Amino acid sequence: MGERIRKVRGHVSQNEPLLFELSSPGKKACQLPPLDVPSVDPAAVLGPAHVRGEIEGFPEVSEVEAIRHFSRLASWNYAIDLGMYPLGSCTMKYNPRINEKMAALEGLALAHPYQPEPLARGALEIMARLEAALAEITGMDAVSLQPAAGAHGELLGLLLIRACLEARGDPRKKILIPDSAHGTNPATAAMAGYSVENLRSNPRGMLDVENLARVVDAGVAALMITNPNTLGVFEENIRRIADLLHERGALLYLDGANMNALVGLTRPGDTGVDVMHLNLHKTFSTPHGGGGPGSGPVAVMRPLEPFLPVPRLKRTPAGWAFDYDRPRSIGRVRAFYGNFGVLVRALAYILACGADGLRQATLDAVLNANYVRQALLPHYELPHQAPSMHECVFSDARQARRGVRTMDIAKRLLDYGFHPYTVSFPLIVPGAMMIEPTESESKRELDLFIDALIAIARETEEKPELVLQAPHSTRTARVDEVTAARKPVLRWRPSPP
Ligand SMILES: *Cc1c(COP(=O)(O)O)cnc(C)c1O
Repeated sequence: MGERIRKVRGHVSQNEPLLFELSSPGKKACQLPPLDVPSVDPAAVLGPAHVRGEIEGFPEVSEVEAIRHFSRLASWNYAIDLGMYPLGSCTMKYNPRINEKMAALEGLALAHPYQPEPLARGALEIMARLEAALAEITGMDAVSLQPAAGAHGELLGLLLIRACLEARGDPRKKILIPDSAHGTNPATAAMAGYSVENLRSNPRGMLDVENLARVVDAGVAALMITNPNTLGVFEENIRRIADLLHERGALLYLDGANMNALVGLTRPGDTGVDVMHLNLHKTFSTPHGGGGPGSGPVAVMRPLEPFLPVPRLKRTPAGWAFDYDRPRSIGRVRAFYGNFGVLVRALAYILACGADGLRQATLDAVLNANYVRQALLPHYELPHQAPSMHECVFSDARQARRGVRTMDIAKRLLDYGFHPYTVSFPLIVPGAMMIEPTESESKRELDLFIDALIAIARETEEKPELVLQAPHSTRTARVDEVTAARKPVLRWRPSPP
């Protein structure tokens, strides 16, 4: 059995074994009354192929053991409901309870994807309204809600670009991607069968337009740009960039994961973007991670609209219906119609905020990032001086002189009760510390976070080993991340007695 007892903050505490380790044969979490109908052999009724036999080592525990096991694990987890979660680029904003309340409405929560359309008009109306709201917010002409994540939206976006260019009789082979891009961008381009060319940023942290002018040739299908980019810097030449691409027959893809800095202030559709994705689990406050499904809608301008995946919503005299008769569509990208429960939450958030509220959220997100930036400037290195939007990227350059790196500072933040910032990303900043507070945080919470980082900067000068050996207060101390990545143990096996 694993370590049962360990010391936490000087106290002795029970550690949580695996459910398999809690198991003892014959324990059950439920008791059913005796069978009062004739019993049948399931294999005879369903066919032996559909009957699963015993599962070796399957855990057997009582109800209270199962509940305590998962409750303990949940209470040891960090969550946005516990405190600030300043993970840059990820936009870990609070998920308002009104979203959950709407998604739990019986008619929505229990809706079935095979429900006949006449019995699902309300659900279709919700999707239609969300599409319209996202089109309005982005300034784009049409929206597909199908992709299940941002990266999935990127893939759909590139497939649409390919379909559009092929229809023009001008298929192209290359996607340009700035060095400040999220890792999913080059991965997506490669998956879609394109070759990738990396573009350098200039010292202000923006795309170098002169360099772009040199590399956009007849082989370039599109530029994938993030705006504001992953340095939190607004690409102020975005219109010129779009014009340059369009003059040469290429398209502009916007990675819209950072829309939290733009909603209500500016619209990608007005800056020359042809196709983009959104992350509902970032900008529109739907749950993020924890195994919950995401959603990465794609928005396009008119010329790309015929290629959007089926089914599309269409208005009929009876109300909204699905249209499968779209001969130029690239086909399906997802079973059914997207992660419906997430769509309900996003629409609830948009309607609860209203236009004014969405705009205010953006202003607050930018204000919070700049408050943190200003407070930390005397203590940490800020490699790019361009104005910050909704996030700011420091580096560990000053602390590195004492041997303390961004990962050490992140681990020490755990001792102060905060989830770390994003470590070592974007890659163009060595030792990056990428901080995105989001609009959810009060000045009080921001001050606590700032105080923690200032205290760590001081510790780095006075007692660097304290930071280097952190965390000191968590259940698990420093883990060997290299071995965990290289030799992952993915399957539990009973340890020899
Ligand atoms: C989060 C993010 C993505 C990927 O989105 P997922 O939903 O995690 O697939 C892409 N680009 C940027 C800039 C992001 O922040």
